Amino acid sequence: MYAPVLEIDTHKITENARRLKTMCDARGIEIAFVTKGFCARPAVIRAAKAGGLTHFADSRMQNIIAAKQADPELHYLLIRIPALDEVEEVVRWTDWSMESQIETICAISDEALRQGKVHPIILMLDVGDLREGVFGREQLDEIAPQILACPGVELVGLGTNVGCYGSVLPSPENMGSLVKARDYLNAAYGFHIRTLSAGGTCVLKLLENGTLPDGINQLRVGEAVLYGEDSTGNRLLDDFHQDAFRLSAQVVELRRKPSVPVGERGRDCSGNVQEYPDRGVRLRAICALGKQDVDWTALTPMLPGAYLIGASSDHLIVEVEECGGAVRPGDRLWFRCGYMAALHATTSAYIEVRELE
Ligand SMILES: *Cc1c(COP(=O)(O)O)cnc(C)c1O
Repeated sequence: MYAPVLEIDTHKITENARRLKTMCDARGIEIAFVTKGFCARPAVIRAAKAGGLTHFADSRMQNIIAAKQADPELHYLLIRIPALDEVEEVVRWTDWSMESQIETICAISDEALRQGKVHPIILMLDVGDLREGVFGREQLDEIAPQILACPGVELVGLGTNVGCYGSVLPSPENMGSLVKARDYLNAAYGFHIRTLSAGGTCVLKLLENGTLPDGINQLRVGEAVLYGEDSTGNRLLDDFHQDAFRLSAQVVELRRKPSVPVGERGRDCSGNVQEYPDRGVRLRAICALGKQDVDWTALTPMLPGAYLIGASSDHLIVEVEECGGAVRPGDRLWFRCGYMAALHATTSAYIEVRELE
């Protein structure tokens, strides 16, 4: 049966992991390697371990449970604040979790006591990206005594996240607010907060230019190791492999066509009004791959001269006019995958995943 193939070069993951570890070791920073971008596949986790990474993090309980079943020694942090419906699994399977809601923290505490444990938590602080986290001093003073009243949890860390919903970039100021909050909470309430956790990959910029505040001692990173990219900071990372994830799809039509559609126009298959720049008559390859499989905007053709021009749910259109006749029907075209392409490809029922080990 035909399937697009996602190939993962695990040697490149190992080298990227080693490179990141060298950067972080020099500053005494622990890496929590975020595994949600590849569905926590065991071969990729092995590759990261081979590169020296020892702490793992994921947003999905299914991924954490499967990874721990494959390797019970893995140390795992849950990085999506949990739903009340998953509290039992959180306490059973994770080594620690990120939290921001007192109802959930109380439920975790009760469940931990039932399981005969104390569950370590990292409290999320919202420094402006406006996704999860306690926002401002007043909310901090509200939740701190409530956490102290939960004997089944121990507040061991503070965490923050930037570069997600609000596209906010990390800065010495917003990262520094974690250090201030730690000192305040330890002094005012007697906590023993040790871990200050920041993420994701975009925070590496501060590490590189020496402006990451002292005290931040954990970075949650996925994208740098997997794709050698910082998409929030809009840059490729020097000395990291960018092509560990590659997707191939077969060419099912090869024809010369005009670049501007012919006839009265409505909307495209996603309901958007599209622009079609006139590039003249061009040779176009249709690949058997579409929006149902991956976020095609995160693909880059690897064949020199090939140019992605569009996709529908099942078809990917690639202009190959400048490829010197290199493309034939039945060939597989290869694409480098960015974050959203690999994330979708590793969870698609239609794509075959092969790890090169
Ligand atoms: C996804 C995620 C990360 C990792 O971000 P990358 O950009 O992949 O490095 C870190 N923290 C949280 C909370 C996340 O959801």
